[in-house]
Amino acid sequence: MSNQLLSDRINSLPVSQTLAMAAKARELKAAGKDIISLSLGEPDFNTPDFIKEAAIEAINQDYNSYTPVDGYVELKEAICTKFKRDNNLHYSPNQIVVSTGAKQSIANVAQVLLNPGDEVLLPAPYWVSYSAIATLCEAKFVEIPSTIDTDFKITPSQLEAAITPKTKMIFFNSPNNPSGTIYSEEEYRALAAVLEKHPQIYILSDEIYEHINYGDKPFSFAAIESMYDRTITVNGLAKAFAMTGWRIGYIGAPAWIAKACTKMQGQITSGTNCIAQRAAITAVLAPISKIQYMVDEFKQRRDMVLDLLGTIDGFKLNIPNGAFYVFPDISAFFGKTIKGRNIENANDFSMLLLEEANVATVTGEAFGAPDCIRLSYAASVSQLQEAIKRIKEVLS
Ligand code: GLU
Repeated sequence: MSNQLLSDRINSLPVSQTLAMAAKARELKAAGKDIISLSLGEPDFNTPDFIKEAAIEAINQDYNSYTPVDGYVELKEAICTKFKRDNNLHYSPNQIVVSTGAKQSIANVAQVLLNPGDEVLLPAPYWVSYSAIATLCEAKFVEIPSTIDTDFKITPSQLEAAITPKTKMIFFNSPNNPSGTIYSEEEYRALAAVLEKHPQIYILSDEIYEHINYGDKPFSFAAIESMYDRTITVNGLAKAFAMTGWRIGYIGAPAWIAKACTKMQGQITSGTNCIAQRAAITAVLAPISKIQYMVDEFKQRRDMVLDLLGTIDGFKLNIPNGAFYVFPDISAFFGKTIKGRNIENANDFSMLLLEEANVATVTGEAFGAPDCIRLSYAASVSQLQEAIKRIKEVLS
């Protein structure tokens, strides 16, 4: 009833499935259920001490006022240093905008570039909020499918075939959430060769999982000369620095896009949290070696999870080289009855795991990959072992 009073905009917006599943897991836990949540992509580490100390110092130094809308200049300079150091990208501070998480960075970019009716290409699987953010801009999202057999990568000819005169943007994400796939420099260049023929298309390159890679160092779209003026590079601190709740995301972009994002942000949230920004200066300038222990741990867990899931019939796996997710194809279970439930799709399968195994995952439907489910291995070894043991029991 009250929904009729809400705008069409919010009524047509899907709930974020990652957040919804995490909330459901929390709710069930609070009700006394022994739930293991492998739903949310959130490092289970604490923020490193050297970053926490920088935040405490900022509080003691009375950083408490509004910040510039696009971020402290020292932080923007530090981000430029980081882009040069890690990505060989040359940005000046007027090309940087700091936001309240990479999610806001992406929403800003979409809001300032997309008109109703524009088409946004989403190589699938894609992060749940991309499609919702495009929809909020009244743009049409166009999925480019991939499967586990091609390591969840799209090809240049698929890209070419998806482009129409209305295509305005592509949202590209490597290392990928949910698949963990990392595109090689060669693969980036092959996709860029297609985009070169279509100068009206802008590239949003979401590199938030950059540092969580197991050997294949990720590349950046903007590092290709012909793409630099058309690419918005998105990054943030949440994943690599275990700072999800601090909410610091940022973009490097052509100055005119950065200026437009600042204008947008100035009317919605203003500059992001002052303490988090001061701590972020320390974080982005820190040598990667300072966070390597988390990446090493994630790799061990990935290997263990792949070994354990590999013992369950019906789980089709590939080797994800980055991020902290596995994204098995579980379509072998479709059409079966398990624990008295008909499993028709990934939603049913994910609910089966939640309600019968007490393990929270996220359905692949939410990521545009209806044959798969996502499990986050950003959880302790003992939780992961127990979760997979329970899954195996339910399915046997
Ligand atoms: N990006 C994380 C995930 O995919 C955090 C939740 C969200 O914002 O979607 O689980």
